[in-house]
Amino acid sequence: MAGDNPTSRPTNCLLGLDLQELTALALESGQPAYRGQQLFDAVYRQRIERLEEISTLPREYRARLAEEGWQVGIPAIDRTFVSSDGTIRYLIRLADGETVETVWMPEGDGGESGDGSEAGDQAEGSDREEARKGVTAIPVPSRSQDKTAPEWGTRATICVSSQVGCAVNCKFCFTALLGVKRNLEAGEIVGQIVAVLRDRAVDPPLQRVNIVFMGMGEPFLNYENFMKSVRLLVEGVGIPESRMTVSTAGIVPRIYDFGRETMRPKLAISLNGSNDALRSEVMPLNRKWNIAELMKAAREFPLRARERITFEYVLLERVNDAPEQAREVVGLVRGLRAKVNLIALNPGSELPYRTPAQERVLEFQRILMTAGIPTFVRRPRGRDIFAACGQLKRTMQV
Ligand code: SAH
Repeated sequence: MAGDNPTSRPTNCLLGLDLQELTALALESGQPAYRGQQLFDAVYRQRIERLEEISTLPREYRARLAEEGWQVGIPAIDRTFVSSDGTIRYLIRLADGETVETVWMPEGDGGESGDGSEAGDQAEGSDREEARKGVTAIPVPSRSQDKTAPEWGTRATICVSSQVGCAVNCKFCFTALLGVKRNLEAGEIVGQIVAVLRDRAVDPPLQRVNIVFMGMGEPFLNYENFMKSVRLLVEGVGIPESRMTVSTAGIVPRIYDFGRETMRPKLAISLNGSNDALRSEVMPLNRKWNIAELMKAAREFPLRARERITFEYVLLERVNDAPEQAREVVGLVRGLRAKVNLIALNPGSELPYRTPAQERVLEFQRILMTAGIPTFVRRPRGRDIFAACGQLKRTMQV
């Protein structure tokens, strides 16, 4: 695994700076300290795109910031792909030209709540046929700024990327094929969300939205920037941490660090294998931190009231989807305040695995449920536009 990567960011972006840093910036220019708060509100709460439009600031100060090379720094939406199920995949361009993908799910996919609140979800089966048809969606113009009432209820979820590419090399995931290019800055993580909120005309905290750190990359290999983005989202944008979930492939030392955070999203762990041999095969990272170490960290993780850890388990036909393996998962998870999210593989031509039949998925679920483990089958979202789990890769294919 390549581990943490150096980062570089050419422009001076306000997005990514916290209140303290923005206050320091104001003071440096001889401005009163409260200008920091005004900048913070403008960038995160009002989500203003251009410096010139921050009307709370004196004109001269705006001009000075511009002269010094400052800009707000919301990343550009390069393209959007709309799925037949309403999911939108955004290709987002960063200042240095790299792109990442961010996904808008109007009704979530069942994976956003770590509390089992999606208990009514049913498996929708493995739509291998649908996926085989390939990409059918067309890019659509974006930036609908009409502030109409939301039609998506309270489950709208944004899936955000934490790195350009990924270093973890899970054998069933497309993003792994890219390798890792670099970490995202905190501002680039928040920036994806700000760009999508603007595009969807969604306005937290008035309108609710869930965030899942489950896009491209491994958030726990970009830990500081990820955590800073969480604080900016909570304190600035106004999205409560209880509406956020981070998923890790199992970077064990960071799970302990994460447990010590006072402000943190809910935790999801990608299990994907029921014993070490199997998990090492599909997630080579297991050779570094094996299941015993992973489960120890999970058992010691300090949960809040009513909180559960989520274990994600991607079902790969005839690899890890047998009843016997379900019973092994029971053995691992039993006794933990946990739930399991099953994800039938979202297939891709370059992947050496197949999606199990729906009966296999339901049988796996039944075994876990019978053992008293709340188990949900994630609904595939946006498979037709390659927006589903494990399908994100930097692509211009249409
Ligand atoms: N790196 C983090 C964040 C990515 S989350 C992690 O690994 O947890 C993406 C989730 O999608 C993970 O649970 C992963 O196991 C799952 N996933 C990856 N590829 C998939 C695929 N092809 N089909 C279904 N789920 C997949």
